[in-house]
Amino acid sequence: MKSFDQLALKPEILQALKKKGYETPSPIQAAAIPAILEGKDILAAAQTGTGKTAGFVLPILNQLSEQPPQRFPRALIITPTRELAAQILENIKHYSEFLELKSMTAFGGVNIRPQIKALASGMDILVATPGRLVDLVEQQACKLHQIDTLVLDEADRMLDMGFIRDIRKIVKQLPKKRQNLLFSATFSKDIRRVAEEFLQQPKVIEVAVQNATADKVSQKAYRCDQAVKGEALIQIINEENLSQVIVFTKTKHGANRLSKRLVSANISSSAIHGNKSQGARTRALSEFKENKVRVLVATDIAARGIDIADLPYVVNYELPNVPEDYVHRIGRTGRAGREGTAVSLVSNDERPFFQAIEKLTGNKIPLDDLDGFTPTQWTDRAPTAKEVMKVAERRKQEARKQRPSGSRNGSSPSQNGEQHRRNSSRSYNRR
Ligand code: AMP
Repeated sequence: MKSFDQLALKPEILQALKKKGYETPSPIQAAAIPAILEGKDILAAAQTGTGKTAGFVLPILNQLSEQPPQRFPRALIITPTRELAAQILENIKHYSEFLELKSMTAFGGVNIRPQIKALASGMDILVATPGRLVDLVEQQACKLHQIDTLVLDEADRMLDMGFIRDIRKIVKQLPKKRQNLLFSATFSKDIRRVAEEFLQQPKVIEVAVQNATADKVSQKAYRCDQAVKGEALIQIINEENLSQVIVFTKTKHGANRLSKRLVSANISSSAIHGNKSQGARTRALSEFKENKVRVLVATDIAARGIDIADLPYVVNYELPNVPEDYVHRIGRTGRAGREGTAVSLVSNDERPFFQAIEKLTGNKIPLDDLDGFTPTQWTDRAPTAKEVMKVAERRKQEARKQRPSGSRNGSSPSQNGEQHRRNSSRSYNRR
């Protein structure tokens, strides 16, 4: 499809797209928009970076603007994280600039009262994370009986985060007759089961090969002892003169520590994770987007769905235990057809995760030594995931024994339940 004009979208929407500088619909948009306009349910496998947000937002705007206004929300978009919700709203605001539609986000970690007030003032489109939406519904502040269209965005991630029960509670409040759109980076068995539960004869759209990593992202990896990864990262940032890079760590504490380490090496950095307040997360993200900060150190959940145009570089400081997370991480770069680089630092203990990533993506990722960082701990045989997990568990228990009783990790429980949900999500061994 050559142009947006070929899609049956209203002139006000085309005008907004023109203003954004979009010329051609992306493949997911070309496939999804006509089907959604026809009223079909959709089951779409599309990674972030494919333009999927506009793929569902544009037809929803079109449909809503053709109906008489209502007091209660008519479109509900459920997303796993606050950042993603905020980003979707930003997209909606752009695309609906020339329409009279009201939209808002509802997510946790911020005061609920303004959200209740906004809902009471009348709303067309609600973008929400599951936990806060359940709270709003239970407080009877949010009525969902007029929802025409339900979007489950990044559904695979929502399952991983343990949101299925909240989603079921929400769906119970919706009218039986409605349109359902499910977007997921991967089409796992679990996703197909959820699709069977919520969708009716959906049109299946697969624009990218299942679990394929973004084509435009060049991937490389360096063998590196865990203890010297900080130095290695600093060397990479300095030698490649990187001006904007997202670095992924496995834990929130690790993210804080690494960010401080970078700052002490004169590399501006901030950390973004679930223990930070929403204000701090938003600030860190906007400073990074405005190029005031060179390095954003992030955990997987916090970085989910972050959309930064032209982000050229992503570093996996630690590899995720869950190989799909790798695909999501490197999808932060190489977006909308641009080129990007993803570098991973792999310690001996991470070799099984590295192998799992290669298996999932079907890619052989070149694994080299970084100048001056040849690892001292590299066994002839790669340890198995089970062995690594066992050692990690033993270390954890030892650390627990050494801690004075009553102290919990030295941190407050996460505001969005990040740690809890991560722990209760599917483990590596069950894959
Ligand atoms: P998404 O996959 O929805 O997160 O979108 C990825 C990026 O592509 C966002 O920055 C969008 O603004 C951009 N984008 C979406 N659709 C188009 C399009 N048709 N042409 C150019 N850029 C687009």
